[in-house]
Amino acid sequence: MDKLRYERPVIKKLETGMPNKFGLRTEYAPLTHIDGNAVKDLVKEYGSPLYVISETTMRSTIKKAKKAFTTRYPKVQFAWSYKTNYLKAVCNVFHQEGSWAEVVSGFEYDKALGNGVDGKKIIFNGPDKSEADLRKAINNDSLIHIDHLDELYTILEITETTDKRPKVAIRVNMDTGIYPIWDRFGFNYENGQAWDALNKIMRSGKLDLVGLHCHIGTFMLAASAYAIAAGKLADLAIGIEQKYNHSIKYIDLGGGFASKNTLRGAYLPGSDTNPSFDDFAEAITTTLLNSNFKNNELPTLILETGRALIDDAGYLIGSVIANKRTSTGKRTTIIDVGVNLLFTAFWYEHKMTPAQPFTHYTETTQVFGPLCMNIDVIRENIDLPLLNKGDQVVISTIGAYNMTQWMQFITLRPNVVMIDTNEKVHLIRENEKMETISDLEKMPEHLKNFEL
Ligand SMILES: *Cc1c(COP(=O)(O)O)cnc(C)c1O
Repeated sequence: MDKLRYERPVIKKLETGMPNKFGLRTEYAPLTHIDGNAVKDLVKEYGSPLYVISETTMRSTIKKAKKAFTTRYPKVQFAWSYKTNYLKAVCNVFHQEGSWAEVVSGFEYDKALGNGVDGKKIIFNGPDKSEADLRKAINNDSLIHIDHLDELYTILEITETTDKRPKVAIRVNMDTGIYPIWDRFGFNYENGQAWDALNKIMRSGKLDLVGLHCHIGTFMLAASAYAIAAGKLADLAIGIEQKYNHSIKYIDLGGGFASKNTLRGAYLPGSDTNPSFDDFAEAITTTLLNSNFKNNELPTLILETGRALIDDAGYLIGSVIANKRTSTGKRTTIIDVGVNLLFTAFWYEHKMTPAQPFTHYTETTQVFGPLCMNIDVIRENIDLPLLNKGDQVVISTIGAYNMTQWMQFITLRPNVVMIDTNEKVHLIRENEKMETISDLEKMPEHLKNFEL
């Protein structure tokens, strides 16, 4: 056992509003290693800040998710949501685990092709598909999820100049009891827009209607909303069968399952309260099995879950730059991780753990990033042990969206490493250099010289 560390005695000002019924401490042990690798060694080798992705956690999470659905429903297909994290290595772990690709832009579409995904296994979502994007997707027999009538008409126009029969689905938005309704994407169920679009598709005779899609929101905390969504899509599918004698191949319920993060202001930690894959799977599959599909016409269930599959596998290591007290005396720690690297700090209370041994004394601390912006707050209130300049902290459950929504504001993006299932570390995205940014800029001739 380590020798107990001496810490000088302190007089502590009491802060109001922080204690909960479990007491003040939020951390009991340091997080010294990630998948067998010492945090200190990772920082020495790859610098700070540093993103770390655990391949072991990724694989065990997708396996858990698949099992929850495949034990309950005979035909299940996952499609990896690229915008959640489109680093090539991350995508390919999911592709190796059998996931197709779900993309929402031409850029992401090309990324999926670049990773080696067969065009037939790319689901193309989103409101902004250019004519060139659509042509490419049609040529590759990709699954095009139509967002609005303008897109439908563009696709119909393209069919005039190709022998291909585009494979399409429509995105449907609907009231699932969760407000506000995400009704800006796709066609509304309740007001008849969805049927308008389906009738236009079926009566054109030029398109192959293969599926129905919805994505009802993100970080959903009610599994019951998915039961309502599945029921409404099943009704549409059965209506199409009756009216056109055409059976669709799949129902795609999108993503949005909550990860284990804790929303700002939540009373209990998300790891204790958020629904599990089993909860979501039970709600969705029960509805589909209870619906009136003929047994040989049960559609494939597609899931595009993103954050719930990758959040837990991501860590962000940071280092303490300085400690200070604000004018009110509140303890303030500045670290080298700002909202430029941790966009999700705007809505989550991210777990943050010291990477070195600490004593039992804690104090309510606000943690700021290094940006010269007042909104650069990583945690408003967290009970942390004393940290010294140069100490490391590990921020957990950050794998979703931070590596796609990161911003290049006053500094460069750091290294990203993946630790494989044998605990070996691989650099999967190099840190940016000055040239990464400045090479894109051009200096007009007349601005090249000046005298000061
Ligand atoms: C963003 C998105 C997803 C993934 O959402 P998560 O909340 O990360 O699970 C899936 N489908 C569509 C259409 C999306 O836009």
